[in-house]
Amino acid sequence: QAKAAGRNTVCFFDPAMQAQAVARAEFEQDMRDGFDQREFTLYYQIQVDSQSQIMGAEALVRWRSAKRGMVSPLEFISLAEENGMILPLGQYVLEAACAQLVDWAQQPATAAWTVAVNVSARQFAHVNFVDNVVMALQKTGANPLLLKLELTESMLLKNVEAVIAKMNAIKALGVSFSLDDFGTGYSSLSYLKLLPLAQLKIDQSFVRDLLTDPNDAVIARTVVALGHSLGMRVIAEGVENAAQRDLLASMDCDAFQGYYFGRPVPPENIPLFL
Ligand code: C2E
Ligand code: MG
Ligand code: MG
Ligand code: MG
Repeated sequence: QAKAAGRNTVCFFDPAMQAQAVARAEFEQDMRDGFDQREFTLYYQIQVDSQSQIMGAEALVRWRSAKRGMVSPLEFISLAEENGMILPLGQYVLEAACAQLVDWAQQPATAAWTVAVNVSARQFAHVNFVDNVVMALQKTGANPLLLKLELTESMLLKNVEAVIAKMNAIKALGVSFSLDDFGTGYSSLSYLKLLPLAQLKIDQSFVRDLLTDPNDAVIARTVVALGHSLGMRVIAEGVENAAQRDLLASMDCDAFQGYYFGRPVPPENIPLFL
């Protein structure tokens, strides 16, 4: 290895780095095993409109590891992106969320509910992504009009024309798009208007201190106005109290999601919200 790296390469043993690499390899192996053992599951967090009616829910993946306990997606999504596991995991999430849509469609109280699914950059960029969405819909029989895909700004910046073509192919199926964590990325405004987006999601970092930080209030108000002027709906995430909800509602924000309305829960607990 050292020889292959070249004559001028200094190779030394760093125990800390070594330990880190071993821990990571172990984590990745546990993820693969956990996936095979069906340890990955979806929680759902409700989304409500300005009349406090539940419109649907966002699917949020959870890893209930027999070995490690409950593992947050913040700990494994970026790793899964790097090692490619996001492809089978992302497809599992898409299909499970579509199956949940069908389940809700069969009950009057939830028949019109939508499901929002987070899509990672690598998953969206894959050549088969459009086919994979079609497959999830066909396999489950879900109504595409009730499926929303959440994308983030960073994944849309490269190959803009190809991205738009791909989004349009999926939109033609009836599926709609939300731009997640809006305001934290680098989208230019001229580019935002080109994307076939139905909804902007105000990032929770602007909602957190909304009541005390005037800058956050200005940003939230501006995002609502921007979204509306581009013909999009605007939803706020991370709403934790009535005062935040009321201020956002006074800014004409269309919908809300956050602990104030409900934490993410396994689907069997969803009836508690009805
Ligand atoms: P996100 O899509 O922006 O999801 C919102 C995150 O905020 C969720 O964290 C949710 O539990 C949390 N949250 C919701 N309401 C509140 C609130 O009122 N206060 C606070 N402090 N937090 C709130 P979670 O479930 O840990 O997910 C973290 C991120 O992991 C997600 O951010 C998303 O980017 C990613 N993720 C989750 N599930 C999936 C998935 O199935 N596929 C992909 N590619 N990414 C996923
Ligand atoms: Mg999301
Ligand atoms: Mg978000
Ligand atoms: Mg977020």
